[in-house]
Amino acid sequence: MSEFPFSKVENKIQEKWKKHNVFQTPKNPKKKYYILEMFSYPSGDLHVGHLRNYVIVDLLARYYAQKGYDILHPIGWDAFGLPAEEAAIKNKIDPETWTLKNINTSRNTLKSIGIGYDWTTELMTCSKDYYKWTQWIFIKLYENGLAYRDTAFVNWCPGCNTVLANEQVEEGKCWRCHSEVNKRELDQWFFKITDYADKLLEDLKYLDGKWPEPVITAQKNWIGRSEGAEVDFAVENSDLKLTVFTTRPDTLWGVTFAAIAPEHKLLSEIIKNSSEKSQVDEYVIQSLAKTDIERTSTISEKNGVHSGVFLIHPLNGDKIPLYVCDYVLASYGTGVVMAVPAHDKRDFAFARKYDIPIKIVIQPKCDKLDVHSMENAFTEPGIMVESSIFTGKKSDVAIPEIIEYLIDKKVGRKKINFKLHDWLVSRQRYWGAPIPMIYCEKCGIVTVPKEDLPVTLPENIDDYLPKGRSVLSGIEHFVNVNCPKCGADAKRDGDTLDTFVDSSWYHLRYPDVKNDKELISKGKSNSWLPVDQYIGGMEHATGHLIYFRFITKFLNDIGVIEVNEPAARLFNQGMVCGADGSVMSKSKSNGVEAGQFVVNFGADVCRVTTLFLAPPGKDAIWTEQGVAGVKRFLDRVWRLGERIKSSSVEKHTEMTVQEKDLDRIMNMTIMNVTNDIEHWGFNTAIAFLMEMVNKMVPFKNSNSPVFHRAYKILLQLLAPFAPHIAEELWEREGNSDLIIKSGWPQHDSEAVLADSEEIVIQVNGKVRGRIYLAPDIGKQKTIEKAKIHENVSNYLQGVKILKTVYIEHRLVNFVIKKD
Ligand SMILES: [Zn+2]
Ligand SMILES: [Zn+2]
Repeated sequence: MSEFPFSKVENKIQEKWKKHNVFQTPKNPKKKYYILEMFSYPSGDLHVGHLRNYVIVDLLARYYAQKGYDILHPIGWDAFGLPAEEAAIKNKIDPETWTLKNINTSRNTLKSIGIGYDWTTELMTCSKDYYKWTQWIFIKLYENGLAYRDTAFVNWCPGCNTVLANEQVEEGKCWRCHSEVNKRELDQWFFKITDYADKLLEDLKYLDGKWPEPVITAQKNWIGRSEGAEVDFAVENSDLKLTVFTTRPDTLWGVTFAAIAPEHKLLSEIIKNSSEKSQVDEYVIQSLAKTDIERTSTISEKNGVHSGVFLIHPLNGDKIPLYVCDYVLASYGTGVVMAVPAHDKRDFAFARKYDIPIKIVIQPKCDKLDVHSMENAFTEPGIMVESSIFTGKKSDVAIPEIIEYLIDKKVGRKKINFKLHDWLVSRQRYWGAPIPMIYCEKCGIVTVPKEDLPVTLPENIDDYLPKGRSVLSGIEHFVNVNCPKCGADAKRDGDTLDTFVDSSWYHLRYPDVKNDKELISKGKSNSWLPVDQYIGGMEHATGHLIYFRFITKFLNDIGVIEVNEPAARLFNQGMVCGADGSVMSKSKSNGVEAGQFVVNFGADVCRVTTLFLAPPGKDAIWTEQGVAGVKRFLDRVWRLGERIKSSSVEKHTEMTVQEKDLDRIMNMTIMNVTNDIEHWGFNTAIAFLMEMVNKMVPFKNSNSPVFHRAYKILLQLLAPFAPHIAEELWEREGNSDLIIKSGWPQHDSEAVLADSEEIVIQVNGKVRGRIYLAPDIGKQKTIEKAKIHENVSNYLQGVKILKTVYIEHRLVNFVIKKD
């Protein structure tokens, strides 16, 4: 039996696509579809697990192209960053050489798989014509008051010898090298993303139902909005005051101590004359060696030291002892908290431990608390007591009045607080975009003029290893510069930008990658933005996807682009695991190397296997049996092609029973495959195609016009999944055009309806899928089939079905418990 001769066919077909410029981006799109996978890091040889999102994106690009859309499907490389630098330090080559070599390897692999990129739009963040615009964005942020320099305690990774953003610290460890992260005080650049906290939160409503719910929830939590008040406490015997943020101003009269973060900027000033100074200093050193996670962990017992300093309660004049406590973080709120032991669990435990008074200011409605018998804090709303003019009021209702009172007394104000921090973007490493700022003794901070951009990274340096300061600051010919304003000797900033800055705007460059006058022209921006479908992993929910939205919003605000959100739709693909069940990785050596796999089995087997493993949102296991099954399937398609080639088509006569059956199956397959592609059911779409082939193989009359038509349709439906074999057989069938230009088949509803009916499947009243079943199948089977529908089953996983509504011939609705 003959097999699909992939090694002969696939190269030839790829050449054909190239010759016809099939994947070139149209100049003036009428019906645009911009599809993008998350930025690729050029790690070198890809394994098959890496290919998943490339293959998914390519499938959709080809599907929409076949449907007549104008496609932008670009590729680029997130090429700056630490791994290149570390390889350079280890192997004594420069990071650029390493990076370009890796990009070349990855590019060849993607080409061998036949991914349909417009290679003329390829970009890499380490090229000068790209990072020129990264630097330009930095300057625009600075000019708009959204980039500032500050001395701050920052997350420091001793492994990478660099600063990390909060988003890069995972459970107290470096996201990259997993070293324990500690704190260092450095002068750094920040982007004021907190100015956008409200918009980033508010605009999530536009993404509802279009971005995955877990991403939206993760962003909401990360932004962490809470309403409350700021209250000022004077420091005793000093002109200083400390401000606290509280969501419970109704408990203000119950404050019996305050706690300040060990890294708070005013702490050293406050304690300079304190008798407890030395014990505080020691405590601060210990605290800063801990990670934020250790400090705020809910399981560890809270501790602190008395600072020897007192604050003055702004309303009743009480002396409030100030403790230094490492569970308070300088980065959250104001870095000082008021403590109300009677009404806060953490404060209660702390007060009992350090023998601090507890003062009840809220009583439950039908009970009376007593300080001595209290076993824990009372945190519910209740009736205010011992609270000056508010005594007797309901605590929750009184909050707005209390805030008014604070404003009146000039000791407080209404405040909305966010957990989100400003984005720390300075890195002390070499391999990144230099920060385009100059320090002049006379003029202060001066931006590099636009015509001098990019500030290029010095090449061929001796040592890429940072030694506690940034690499660039040690390079004389780079650092020393004349001030652009006054001409005096000045110094460049020696840091480079976080690579998340590079990847925060790359989606805006693809439509206009060759433009050296603007980041993107108005015309291109209006033609192509936003990204219609963005695909990538869930791990970027709070890092990249927040920055990506922030920079898009900022560039919209300054009129560079017209869109306010970067991507209309987002899909999170799952991971591909090796046969051992763990995620494929080089270090585990359970990965199947993609380039070699394509040599052995061909691109189409690779693509279809990737898509057939599991629904794209779920993790999947790559198995040899899976590969073998897919290979068998494509070989059968190939043999159908051989039968067609040697047959001649009969004139149409009335359809036989067998023909009618095949015609119906063909129409059902068109409907099901189309529906499944649109609902991310690629694996089930392939299963439908396999079933269709199963029906065609035993079909006796190869000359039947119905058989011929079914075969043509099969190729058109198969094309987005296995484009090489489909294109080759299409050509052999005598078509002069490319299959991608042939249109997407439409099912004949008459033929389908003759034997089946559409059942709409809902979950909690929302349509989540459709199935086509024989009318006499009955309630039980209909519900069973509805439950296992790919998309629907996602919604039903792990939840309790409270009720199943069944309307004969029309609908199944699963009512589930939402948590
Ligand atoms: Zn690290
Ligand atoms: Zn100057």
